[in-house]
Amino acid sequence: MSYTSRLTKAIIDLDALVKNYQYISNLSSNSDTIAVIKADAYGHDASKVAQALSSKVNLLAVAFIDEALALRADGIETKVLVLEGPFKESDLELALENNFALMLHSDYQIDWLKSMSPEFSGDIWLKVDTGMNRLGFQVEQVDNVMSQLSAKQIKNLVLCSHFATADQIDCERPVKQLKKLKVLVKKYGCKFSMANSAGILNWPESHGHYNRLGLALYGASPIGESRKSRPLIPAMTLQANIIAIHTVKVGESVGYGNIWQAQRDTRLATVAIGYADGYPRNAKSGTPVYINGSLAPLVGRVSMDMITVDITDLKHTTIGDTVELWGKNLNIDIVAQNSDTINYELLTRVSKRVPRLFVS
Ligand SMILES: *Cc1c(COP(=O)(O)O)cnc(C)c1O
Repeated sequence: MSYTSRLTKAIIDLDALVKNYQYISNLSSNSDTIAVIKADAYGHDASKVAQALSSKVNLLAVAFIDEALALRADGIETKVLVLEGPFKESDLELALENNFALMLHSDYQIDWLKSMSPEFSGDIWLKVDTGMNRLGFQVEQVDNVMSQLSAKQIKNLVLCSHFATADQIDCERPVKQLKKLKVLVKKYGCKFSMANSAGILNWPESHGHYNRLGLALYGASPIGESRKSRPLIPAMTLQANIIAIHTVKVGESVGYGNIWQAQRDTRLATVAIGYADGYPRNAKSGTPVYINGSLAPLVGRVSMDMITVDITDLKHTTIGDTVELWGKNLNIDIVAQNSDTINYELLTRVSKRVPRLFVS
């Protein structure tokens, strides 16, 4: 272990991850629940997460093959689904060698597939665009794509699509998207996969042979403060410590710019975390942090390495005390709302500079 002087860290509760996985997979016991660990497992460390889940999970998913290869380099042997498929023709050979399933979404990828000899014998998923208009074959193209695959390739094929609005319970769009995919599934008698976290929680009818569990695995809610997501346990707790305390008079400001003025004589704590660590620079004055059992408001601008917090009402708080930015005691959604972003972005942007401490 290298020397660490600063105490800022992201504590990753691997036991919470396993519990979240079990809770969600029990909601759809007829489906195989894929653990989506792209983007370094949403900032939680993909290899550590894969290891923790290895006895429970049949299939992992990442965005592109580099992420899949990194798992193999760390000794992870579970099958990996590559959600954006091959970026290069040579990815197909690597997929075969490493037991990666490939999601194919475009004609150029089908061309690469067909030019392989002997024929590509790995798992193929076909991505169908049912209305998100981002990735996938149009419904009308699927016949043509199928006609280019061998009987053997079609036998294990999974038809797959992605929801644009699964978080919105009173929206018609998910129903329409699902209907489009199910028509194809019936026609070809294939396996299918539609649901992401919000789909699993909000749209039971979308549970397929495979569901793709991302955000909820990490204990964050894809659907706001719904009762359904409440048993989820936040897997990441982001912490930093107070490194200075200052008292300022009414009317004074703090940090860069002039965005906050003291309305009273104020005791300010300077905390060793900033936007270079992934704490959002957008966080408004008033965004809560958690210190010694209470909430205290962020004041002034978030700097690269520091933030400042009004601790006037927290009498016993001193230098060295631990501050939670989000996690078990402070819902990440509150920080996201105060920063004009979403929990997904906050989790994935915790930077390399922040050591992860794994507990279970
Ligand atoms: C990232 C991703 C998921 C996981 O989504 P969550 O909302 O985090 O559950 C599922 N499917 C695809 C195609 C993805 O890219």
